[in-house]
Amino acid sequence: MKANSSLASAVDGERFWADIEAQSQIGALSPRGLRRLALDDQDNRARLWLMDQGKALGCSAHYDAMGNVFLRREGQDPSLAPLLIGSHLDSQPSGGAYDGTLGVVAGLAVLRALAKQQIAHERPIEVVSWTNEEGARFAPGASGSSWFAGRRDAETILAARDDDGVTFQEALADCLGLLEAQGAQFRDTPVIPHAFLELHIEQGPVLENQGAPVCVVTGIQGVNWYEVEVNGQANHAGTTPEASRRDAFMGALALVGALKEAVAAKGDQVRFTIGKFTLSPSSVNTIPQQARFTIDLRHPDPAVLDALDAAFRRLAEQEWSGCTAQLEATSRVAPVAFDDHLVAILDASVKAFFPQAPRLVSGAFHDAIHLAHLCPTAMLFTPCRAGISHHPDEHIERDDAEVAVRALAHAVEKLLTTRNDSHDPDH
Ligand SMILES: [Zn+2]
Repeated sequence: MKANSSLASAVDGERFWADIEAQSQIGALSPRGLRRLALDDQDNRARLWLMDQGKALGCSAHYDAMGNVFLRREGQDPSLAPLLIGSHLDSQPSGGAYDGTLGVVAGLAVLRALAKQQIAHERPIEVVSWTNEEGARFAPGASGSSWFAGRRDAETILAARDDDGVTFQEALADCLGLLEAQGAQFRDTPVIPHAFLELHIEQGPVLENQGAPVCVVTGIQGVNWYEVEVNGQANHAGTTPEASRRDAFMGALALVGALKEAVAAKGDQVRFTIGKFTLSPSSVNTIPQQARFTIDLRHPDPAVLDALDAAFRRLAEQEWSGCTAQLEATSRVAPVAFDDHLVAILDASVKAFFPQAPRLVSGAFHDAIHLAHLCPTAMLFTPCRAGISHHPDEHIERDDAEVAVRALAHAVEKLLTTRNDSHDPDH
């Protein structure tokens, strides 16, 4: 093994991959992929599996009011803020086996290596699985991490409903019951970490194109979510003349065209997606009364996001094919730049294994975007084939992932064994 880190060499690649495969069985789709919606039975099983693995390693298991799960390996000085590593175990409705899961299982691999190597460390280390990162069942996503970092209040998160009308709070109650029954200890106040590290699949094509197995991530572009409603008048499809029609679909179509133009004016770094679109009353021979759609808007520059936000609002105030529109911002996550010191440590660890590794800004949001407001935070990426993610075909190469986990372990060893209390919020 290259790189002078005993913890990196102590990572058991076979066991790491066996853990990935064990996790990929929970909520498995045929022939591949995952369906583990936040707080459903499969997501809960994935949490319990993690807890059992951690307890077998001698870690204590904890959970909080949002169902975030923590495995803690105690340090010689339990009063020090823990180094926190992890990601999420929930998936998209038809998702891949590595998005999120990789980062949690990588954390477990680091705990296994620490248990094997018996490296003395003063600082505790914790592995976390954050609740509802994906936002596929309960929007918006990153519920657990945003609450933990004090970025969103519990009340709003708990009130979210899934498509069947089940509230987050109802689904969470089942999860918390299971965690308690399994012997996890409840934490009523978040423990502020020394630092947070998250390994994730890139979900884009850059690393694969460059042949890099891992790289450091220097920040995350911002994301605004909107819900748009276009209101017209339902009427008979056959008897209503053109001049009397207030067709909500036609109104939405015109509005979307104008939104798209506003976006195009800001260059090709903007990401604009309408992922949900519904019409009501949704009948073949009735003019739609209402169109509803969502917007996902992303850019690394907060000024561009603000300018587009203003443009979207102005457009929504106009009439579109005789219909009125309403635009509501449902989530707003500003771009972040990760902690320079931590980025440098991770970059050095990455380069110990792959000297030509690039530095990337993340196009997707991650739990780390919230943690960055609470403690020094940085991420690692490993490639996924053809950049495909949020899809059952999501695929990573075992060799790449193993290098990424070793790079993570390399950085963890550095952070656990060098005394640097300047980042401790309690110092
Ligand atoms: Zn993810």
